[in-house]
Amino acid sequence: MQGTKRRFLIAGNWKMNKTLKETEEFFDMFMSFKKDFGVDVLFCVPFTDLKTALEKTKDSKIKIAAQNCHFEEKGAFTGEISANMLKELGCRYVLLGHSERRQYFNETDLTVNLRLKAALKEGLKAIVCVGETLEQRKDNITDEVIAIQIKTALKDVSKAEIDGVVIAYEPIWAIGTGENATKEQAEDVCKKIRKEIEKLYDSEVAQKTLILYGGSMKPANCEELLKEEDIDGGLIGGASLKSEEFLKIVDVAEKIR
Ligand code: PEP
Repeated sequence: MQGTKRRFLIAGNWKMNKTLKETEEFFDMFMSFKKDFGVDVLFCVPFTDLKTALEKTKDSKIKIAAQNCHFEEKGAFTGEISANMLKELGCRYVLLGHSERRQYFNETDLTVNLRLKAALKEGLKAIVCVGETLEQRKDNITDEVIAIQIKTALKDVSKAEIDGVVIAYEPIWAIGTGENATKEQAEDVCKKIRKEIEKLYDSEVAQKTLILYGGSMKPANCEELLKEEDIDGGLIGGASLKSEEFLKIVDVAEKIR
């Protein structure tokens, strides 16, 4: 499609779901259906499930990510996990700046940038989430909000390091609401994100960077979204909790790119 060489990434975000037992059951089931994929497949799992998820998927191409990491290497940050801790566990990916982290745990563009730099320093690859609220969309300031989120998140991230960064565009009003952005709305913002990256780096970097769409993506709406030129995959919450549903999205993605 569209002559792009970017490989799709279909990523699940389990949020605060699944115990260890449920994680084992999920991967037993998921991998009984499929182990090898024509697209990249990744799951962002709770910290407590990381080790089990990594072990369960070690003979497959499934990638496992943490849902956050702190920006300090160690110290008095009760409840937090460092990038180094993830790395030592064998975890190579981390999700950063999810809107739920911003909304409920006071994370800001600035702390997302600090976390990103800490993750990249440890050699982790990161999925960085950006997205506007419904109010911002209604106020017609989506483009400005996204541009600031991108610029701040990527501040002092070098051209070499950006290779390890995936951007997920997640309009907040579409997350967990069942109401996805239209393909036009999603493509419009993803294209503008690519332009921002081009301004910050260059067009080669912009063309290589993966930009995902997230917000109520499911089997019924994934095809039209994934067919858009600047959408390189999905970050999927609710529909990633059931293997059959998630696999349907993977199947659609495999047929498109
Ligand atoms: C998410 O958790 O990032 C997400 C997009 O959730 P949902 O697919 O449930 O809207």
